[in-house]
Amino acid sequence: MITVEEALRHLFTLVSPLEPETVALAEAGGRVLAEGAQARRDQPPFAASSMDGYAINGTRLCIGDSFDVIGEAAAGHGFAGEVGIGQAVRIFTGAPVPKGADRIVMQEDITREADRITVTGASSDNTHIRPEGSDFRVGDRIDAPRRLSPPDIALLAAMNVAEVTVRRHPRVALISTGDELVMPGDDPGPDQIIASNTYGLKAMLDAAGAKARILPIARDTKRSLETAFELAQGADLVVTIGGASVGDHDLVGAVAADLGMERAFYKVAMRPGKPLMAGRMGQAAMLGLPGNPVSAMVCGHVFLLPMIRVMLGLGARPAPRLRARLTCDMETGGPREHYMRAEAADGRITPEPRQDSALLSVLARANALMIRPAGDGPRRAGDEMDYIAL
Ligand code: AMP
Ligand code: MG
Repeated sequence: MITVEEALRHLFTLVSPLEPETVALAEAGGRVLAEGAQARRDQPPFAASSMDGYAINGTRLCIGDSFDVIGEAAAGHGFAGEVGIGQAVRIFTGAPVPKGADRIVMQEDITREADRITVTGASSDNTHIRPEGSDFRVGDRIDAPRRLSPPDIALLAAMNVAEVTVRRHPRVALISTGDELVMPGDDPGPDQIIASNTYGLKAMLDAAGAKARILPIARDTKRSLETAFELAQGADLVVTIGGASVGDHDLVGAVAADLGMERAFYKVAMRPGKPLMAGRMGQAAMLGLPGNPVSAMVCGHVFLLPMIRVMLGLGARPAPRLRARLTCDMETGGPREHYMRAEAADGRITPEPRQDSALLSVLARANALMIRPAGDGPRRAGDEMDYIAL
């Protein structure tokens, strides 16, 4: 058995960043930049008013000062002339500040009679002018790799970047194995259950930027598994679920080997999730996850998502860990690294009382996987523990 860290090291050698593709900005949210993008203009492209009011020439402004209104500047329609001493231009938010003006007086701070305004107050000594280029300048960069957030997309749009170069979606094929499984919505026989893992994993993978495909369930026969692997062709990563331990009906390892899988390892010292296998299979990486629903999902967080991040060019790193203080005492841990379903809030963490790896209701309630290292000694309430946020 190898450690989680060693397993991850192997897994990182099985995948590499995928080719870049160019997509329209409107389709780029959540995608990972493969090439940096550059601003194609200054923003604002001119000194702009940040208020509705009057543009004047007069840094030292006194209450009672008055000005002649000589024109108007609106957003999209600047004032062509120049503002001289004693003159003002009616101006609106987003309009270019006219030549000669060095300050905007808010309309709340003046009274107006015909074309004459008089200053009645000064709510602030702000000039209410956004200097040219104060947000960004031509050539300012957003560097790759970076997962594009909604504000990033807004920024790129403002930079007049209409297309970006991103990593293509990793294609993942998900294969459930087992005679006991039917798809959600089907009519299960008396000895059957619903395949849940592929659905949970698809949701997890798609949210991470992959495109996961749920294949038909493979029965516990060589033939059926072979068909499933055939259907998986074209995937960058083939994930099997179940059939990977040592039972009479656990055929995934044997069938994958027959199909030329070069196995990188089998079995990891972790709980839940011990029977894990991985290798290369033709053009694809192959990962065999345990069948127990919670094990499969935990392995998804610990192994699958870091592999996806490598394919997206985000680097080879384990799942990010946070820290919180334990709310209870705990007895000595086991010999395998333990990923315990837990609830984390306000810097404190409480493991769920039931840790059976078949209990999806417990996993769905949990918001953290609390990590106990292999061979962990007894723990006291208040100890700091690592966890992975779910
Ligand atoms: P196995 O590794 O095939 O022995 O499966 C271990 C346990 O996980 C068994 O109780 C299976 O019924 C269950 N299991 C396997 N695959 C799935 C799946 N896709 N969805 C839900 N449960 C599964
Ligand atoms: Mg099985």
